[in-house]
Amino acid sequence: DQGSHLVGLVGAGIGPSLSPALHEREADELGLRYLYRRLDLAELGVPPADVGDVLAAARMSGFDGLNITHPCKQLVLEHLDDLAPEAAALGAVNTVVFAEGTAVGHNTDSSGFARSVAVGLPNVSLDRVALLGAGGAGAAVAHALLTLGTGTLEVFDVDASRSEALAGSLRERFGADRAHRAKALADSLRLADGLVHATPTGMAGHPGLPLAAELLRPELWVADVVYRPLNTELVETARARGCQVLDGGRMAVFQAADSFRLFTGREPDAGRMLRHFDAL
Ligand code: NAD
Repeated sequence: DQGSHLVGLVGAGIGPSLSPALHEREADELGLRYLYRRLDLAELGVPPADVGDVLAAARMSGFDGLNITHPCKQLVLEHLDDLAPEAAALGAVNTVVFAEGTAVGHNTDSSGFARSVAVGLPNVSLDRVALLGAGGAGAAVAHALLTLGTGTLEVFDVDASRSEALAGSLRERFGADRAHRAKALADSLRLADGLVHATPTGMAGHPGLPLAAELLRPELWVADVVYRPLNTELVETARARGCQVLDGGRMAVFQAADSFRLFTGREPDAGRMLRHFDAL
């Protein structure tokens, strides 16, 4: 149906997600008929491993596409017919588009972070970057940074096997010298141009600062992927210490904008979405 759009979000515990409001408001502004439904696995009583059933049901019911979130970004892979290059490289999908009988996976977390850096941290050096947190968001951010031209990325995670695995897969994709596991974050930060934080620390349910405040030199730029709240303890501390700071809101908005474009073929107004996000 060319005239209207039906999309949704699949994940567990997604009740508080801002995505429905963000997408639907932008569609209203563009004069589109657009419904964004929550398909919450926890509420549906569907185990994450059965995400394929939800995909099949949505496809049969005429959905145009789905956003995919925790804990299904990897589980969904085996149910797709094709992957966009970024999603294939990352092995994670946050957007599925149903078209012409196929389901194609994309990753707009990575493209969204890249755009948020271009807009929110113009003119900073991306040459040496320390990444704290090697989970799903960390992998998306790392891919974006190395694509944007970061020379050396040092990855730190409390779980050393995760930082080692991420650094190894980045070396395979981008070259032997481009990514390393950091043994100590403090050492990486001494030489770094910037820090990206991608652990859950600072979220509403996990308050706190993920590193010692003294490590935040004013010359260091700091990007947080956590976006609830926007002003995390890290964002506030880094600002107070004179660092250039990017909060997680822009990544969240740009990943939504990129998904919206994939779902509708229409270019959303990302600035307008950002203002709306701020007001939500
Ligand atoms: P995840 O569980 O996949 O990964 C988190 C990683 O952080 C794990 O590897 C864990 O071992 C590590 N970790 C936890 N505490 C640590 C600490 N104190 N020091 C070092 N490492 C630590 O989670 P995720 O899906 O990557 O999400 C992380 C955060 O990113 C969440 O707050 C999420 O909301 C946010 N996120 C934001 C966006 C956005 O658009 N802004 C997109 C995706 C995720």
